[in-house]
Amino acid sequence: MSPPNLPLRSKRRPRFAPGTGVDYDLLRRSMGDTPLLTCDGCGQSATSVHLAKRFERLEWTTRYRPVHIGTVLLGAIAPTKDADFLYGPSGEFGGEAGKLLEAADISRIGKAAEATLGEFQRRGLFLTHILECPLEAGNEGDAERLLKARFGATAARIRRSLRPKRVIPISGLLEPLLHGSNGPVGLGSALIADGEKARIVANEGVGKGLAALSRKRLVADRRTDRRTKS
Ligand SMILES: [Zn+2]
Repeated sequence: MSPPNLPLRSKRRPRFAPGTGVDYDLLRRSMGDTPLLTCDGCGQSATSVHLAKRFERLEWTTRYRPVHIGTVLLGAIAPTKDADFLYGPSGEFGGEAGKLLEAADISRIGKAAEATLGEFQRRGLFLTHILECPLEAGNEGDAERLLKARFGATAARIRRSLRPKRVIPISGLLEPLLHGSNGPVGLGSALIADGEKARIVANEGVGKGLAALSRKRLVADRRTDRRTKS
């Protein structure tokens, strides 16, 4: 039976060929500011710009993740400015990043950012936030709800994937999450607690006393690590 009388190859462009009728520029432009889906890292409605920023931060962070994590420094919300994000490539170490380095007694004077972060990594320290992205404009009043919604996933990630020896909360926003009515929440690691109160090393409005306590602890960790190595 002969095939139907159709040309095998048409000179005309097939009607459904890719590349027809889609204005990719327009698509890209509209994706930039239209929320597409919910971000896995923070639970906020995410634009393509938001998602791209999230993956960028993940990439920066992964570079300095210790193979064996000794201490997870658990923050609440990733800083708005890249310069304040510890693993950001600028090496400015502003805000939270600077406070953490100070608490860990890691000097950044005269050092490249990579060397400073390398020291943080070798110390077995790893920073993560419950909301891995900053709050989008307009969501400022929603922090508590977003943190509550994400906390379970973060706790599971700490238990199953990061598996640190200990977790040090660094934000006062975590207090109600970590110390529910039934006592401290298990993260699969010894949660550094000061009595029933988590130690907090860096956040807006945190007293110097608490910062000093944690500083002692982080510095002590380093000495222990050195002893272990020698
Ligand atoms: Zn996000």
